[in-house]
Amino acid sequence: MTEQSAGRELILIIDDTVEMVRLLSAMLQGEGDIVFALSGEAGLRLARERRPALVLLDVHMAGMDGYEVCQQLKADQAGAETAVIFVTANHSMECEVRALEAGGADFVTKPLNPPVVLARVRTQLRLWRQRRALAELAGRDGLTGLYNRRHFDTHAEAEFARHQRHGLALGLLMIDIDHFKAYNDQNGHQAGDAALIAVAGALQQCARRAGHFVARYGGEEFVALLPLGDAAGVAGCGESLRQAVEQLALPHAASAAGVVTISAGGAACVPQPGATLAGLVAAADAALYQAKQAGRNCVVLAERR
Ligand code: GH3
Ligand code: MG
Ligand code: MG
Repeated sequence: MTEQSAGRELILIIDDTVEMVRLLSAMLQGEGDIVFALSGEAGLRLARERRPALVLLDVHMAGMDGYEVCQQLKADQAGAETAVIFVTANHSMECEVRALEAGGADFVTKPLNPPVVLARVRTQLRLWRQRRALAELAGRDGLTGLYNRRHFDTHAEAEFARHQRHGLALGLLMIDIDHFKAYNDQNGHQAGDAALIAVAGALQQCARRAGHFVARYGGEEFVALLPLGDAAGVAGCGESLRQAVEQLALPHAASAAGVVTISAGGAACVPQPGATLAGLVAAADAALYQAKQAGRNCVVLAERR
């Protein structure tokens, strides 16, 4: 279970009327952590950054309207799980149909009736928690959308056996965010979650281009598996991942680089008879420890085995 699922869910209110934001925030105080945006554009940005469990979305806004926001949010893989409840003054059937067609889960009408709003919000939060639990079972990490540890274990065991059978080199990188406890302490757990999502996205993009497999190993640790990866390949990939995260330029006062960085430990081998995946993971882990000792924001390769 990720740490976030033990905490409160994130609810995003998007409405261009400050009064409405205030009213809804007061109603939903007890249901989760609340953030808001006063335009469709800003709301969409915030939703992509923070991946809220639930969005309360005003239909009529200057600029991008609620339907458009919802459609764009649902078009992202990351936003597909977010529940959207439309808030509208219009009771017409046409409005209702458009809201559902845009991907909305439900809607409430103004003037708001607090017990109705609460009941609908609670239902959607419950459904969202169930979707997350299902995603976990399907091998996905609920926070970052990456593959989870369970899926990695299964996939990596199969890859290890395949490389062993054919006498091929297999590479692996253990990756850990530097000084992440301090990041949480200074910026709050929610901002920590947002940073994890951003780092995961950078790793994923970088690895996908190269045909590598990335998963969230747990907490602020990730793992990359490199089919046909020798030591040089592992070193190159580690360095690309390190740079990709540094280039996100997420401010981090307690880190030497001033931004969020990762350390990585790499190992590669042609699995011999009797060798195990656990051995390769342990070697990469020991190299990661050395990277931390060497000052962080760097990649260290394990001794040839
Ligand atoms: P180091 O550079 O040595 O790796 O230091 P560190 O602070 O990153 O390492 P440490 O293991 O002391 O702390 C890891 C932190 O990662 C503590 C924990 O709260 C945070 N963390 C783990 N999982 C999550 C998560 O899902 N969300 C957030 N916000 N923080 C998390
Ligand atoms: Mg760690
Ligand atoms: Mg760390």
